[in-house]
Amino acid sequence: MELRLSAADAELQAKARRFTDEVLVPLELECEEHDGLTAASAAAAKQAVLDHDFHAINHAAEDGGQGFDTFQVMLIEEQWGRATGALWDIPWRPSIPLAAGTEEQKERFLRPACRGERRDAYAITEEGAGSDVSMVATIAKRDGTGWVIEGEKWHVTSGDVADFFLVHAHVDGDPAKATVFLVDKDTPGVRLVRTPNYTHTFVFEHPIFAFDGVRVGDDRVLGDVGQGFELTKDWFVEERLMIGARTVGASQRCLDEALAFATEREQFGSPIADFQAVGFMLADMAAEIMAAKSMLYRVCWDAARGGIDRKRLHAEASAVKLLCSETAGRVADRGVQILGGRGYMREQAVERHWRELRVDRIWEGTSEIQRLVILNELRKRGPGAYVDWPI
Ligand SMILES: Cc1cc2nc3c(=O)[nH]c(=O)nc-3n(C[C@H](O)[C@H](O)[C@H](O)COP(=O)(O)OP(=O)(O)OC[C@H]3O[C@@H](n4cnc5c(N)ncnc54)[C@H](O)[C@@H]3O)c2cc1C
Repeated sequence: MELRLSAADAELQAKARRFTDEVLVPLELECEEHDGLTAASAAAAKQAVLDHDFHAINHAAEDGGQGFDTFQVMLIEEQWGRATGALWDIPWRPSIPLAAGTEEQKERFLRPACRGERRDAYAITEEGAGSDVSMVATIAKRDGTGWVIEGEKWHVTSGDVADFFLVHAHVDGDPAKATVFLVDKDTPGVRLVRTPNYTHTFVFEHPIFAFDGVRVGDDRVLGDVGQGFELTKDWFVEERLMIGARTVGASQRCLDEALAFATEREQFGSPIADFQAVGFMLADMAAEIMAAKSMLYRVCWDAARGGIDRKRLHAEASAVKLLCSETAGRVADRGVQILGGRGYMREQAVERHWRELRVDRIWEGTSEIQRLVILNELRKRGPGAYVDWPI
């Protein structure tokens, strides 16, 4: 079994690390203090993304993406995840279902999004529909040759900077006809309801949008009518793996900071790392990161190069998201404890990660929903996805 990175993968990982240290980390305090970036910083960061060829790392080269496989995308996101303020979201990664579009849709939406000329946001969640996506109340009805969409979407991440949405709606209110529509933000009837504040600092916002009788043509149906749940599931799988990657990267940053502090900080005449109560926290952080990272690499390797099927990947991605995000929560919490009072100051990366990593146990399916997916897999197909490795 070959468990080493290839030279090309190692170089990509090192490049992503440099990008994080040189482009993203220097923006952290500005983002924290101003709850976002100034227009000048945002423009410079965008240019840096293009200069480093880090735009659309998840899409095919023929669509203007970088043509990386899932393992390589994970290597990059892991490094970006070290940065706080969700600055990892600056390098745009157009939603993966856009690759299922027609040629015309790719020309209009995906390819400009890959180039950074457009930006998408994915709108599934509603006031009454969260974990249970079948409760979506956004309706699309036939109107002549097109569609009329009516509904309201919550927590639309990067909806403030997006100029089009992937809207998950039910045709005629029927969950069996779940369908994703491509909706330009400037279409009449698209309305910003409000922009709530959240626990974390995030470089972009998560607004609520209403779709008041929004008219679109047949050419705005992504895939087929009724294919919406499958497309949205593809998005979940990719995002869950990338949450795994970023939370592992964030955990490593917390360990780095806590280890450095514990080695330097002296109380009662010795470095606090000498006290087992502190040292054992560091040891637990390291061991838990090792477990999460091993699993992340294994599953992303399987996804990219192991030839596993879609169902198995869906099952494995839930385990990755669950374990990596829960590990990160514990790791960041210990990091705060080790830094003491400084750990509670927003100017410290561990404090920001501690606050910001909380959402990783909620979005893209809560920890409870990941456990449901895993249990479902166990009951349907047995434990193979989790215990039979190598395949
Ligand atoms: C910052 C942020 C950004 C987001 N970005 C987006 C986005 O870009 N696009 C988008 O569409 N959505 C987005 N979301 C929404 C997110 O995916 C949902 O919040 C999440 O799926 C949970 O849904 P909910 O909030 O309605 O909670 P609910 O589904 O109401 O759940 C509440 C609680 O009940 C538990 N629960 C529910 N059902 C079960 C069950 N069957 N068994 C056990 N426990 C259960 C949950 O685990 C949770 O603890 C975002 C959310 C946040 C906070």
